[in-house]
Amino acid sequence: MLFTNKAVFLDRDGVLNKDKVDYVYKIDDFQILDGVIEAIEILKKNSFLLVVITNQSGIAKGIYTDKDVQKCWQYLQEQCNFLIDDHYFAPHHPKYTSESLSRKPDSLLLEKAIAKYKIDTKNSWIVGDSRRDIEAGKKVGVKTIQVIGTKAGEEKPSEIVDYQVNSLLEATKIICQNL
Ligand SMILES: [Mg+2]
Repeated sequence: MLFTNKAVFLDRDGVLNKDKVDYVYKIDDFQILDGVIEAIEILKKNSFLLVVITNQSGIAKGIYTDKDVQKCWQYLQEQCNFLIDDHYFAPHHPKYTSESLSRKPDSLLLEKAIAKYKIDTKNSWIVGDSRRDIEAGKKVGVKTIQVIGTKAGEEKPSEIVDYQVNSLLEATKIICQNL
């Protein structure tokens, strides 16, 4: 089967909203980063499917529930005029619940979206702030962009990444230059 749709996979914390060391699970803490709404509008105008793929191990740790994650997703969609196409999250953590191929750096959630939306990975991208986002993207063969300087806590630039930027808006410019 020929897969022809192009997509941008988006990590959530540190790409769309401000990251916090002690987890983002309340709307009050869900601070959308500068330029994100504009970036989403530009990507949609250029016919990209937008799919959020996020690790939410705070669920495994009992800090919050899947309902909290859904509430944040609903809020994000409202702020972005419902332009994001889908949202997948991995609730697992190996030390608290189980290993999971859904949790980045593994790529099961990306693979599910690729199958569901018939995504052509050669013309698709992942934007993340963590090395594990980039590794997950590499596994499915999309181009990779790391947002630097937004992650709460230490994160070194990934040497395996295709591009590094400071924001989703900057990432969007690179994506649009490579159409
Ligand atoms: Mg992140």
